[in-house]
Amino acid sequence: MKIGIMGGTFDPIHLGHLATAESVRELFALDEILFIPAARPPHKLGRHVTDEHHRLAMTILATRSNKFFRVSDMELKRTGLSYTLDTMNELHAQFGTTTELFFILGADSLVDLSKWHEAKTLVARSHFIATTRPGVDVDFSATEKFFGSAASEHIHRVTTPAIEISSTEIRQRVKLGRSIKYLVPEAVEEYILREGLYL
Ligand code: ATP
Ligand code: MG
Repeated sequence: MKIGIMGGTFDPIHLGHLATAESVRELFALDEILFIPAARPPHKLGRHVTDEHHRLAMTILATRSNKFFRVSDMELKRTGLSYTLDTMNELHAQFGTTTELFFILGADSLVDLSKWHEAKTLVARSHFIATTRPGVDVDFSATEKFFGSAASEHIHRVTTPAIEISSTEIRQRVKLGRSIKYLVPEAVEEYILREGLYL
């Protein structure tokens, strides 16, 4: 089995996350993609993050029409800070040694990978798929230097179609009363409006 892991704050989940996950699934012939909303993102401690039950609900709504997509609340159930290493260890234990895990992340996050908690152990045990927008050249040399041979074996770079959407932009648009149609799935748009999020 090959499983893709899409971690994120998903505040809210948008079509950029979904389209990226789907292209990576096809490109790497992954059996499924597990979306894992993060509890307290260590790098986002400074800002307000929407209540986790809302972020989980939107992630479930957004992924339910794709039979290859699943959602896990494992990070939300954990207490304390949310580290990817703990999540990957838990998944490795759950799925066993015959399953390979592929953590999907944006190229912007790849630049910071060396600063993640126990980064070298993390990269030694799992694969990372860094998605780059067409025409954007991300400097990989520092990452290669830091991770050594593990970088070429376990960090894969792929180009996926650019979908220029961020959760930040969605939150700002809602606050300004602007449309978020076609930026998030319809069910997520309805949920945000119904629950009065991001106002
Ligand atoms: P925020 O604006 O709040 O930072 P975000 O849109 O970056 O939110 P996150 O939940 O922080 O969303 O991102 C989760 C993962 O998805 C990260 O690895 C990030 O690089 C990736 N990602 C976010 N937006 C896109 C996009 N439009 N296309 C591809 N990958 C994306
Ligand atoms: Mg982000």
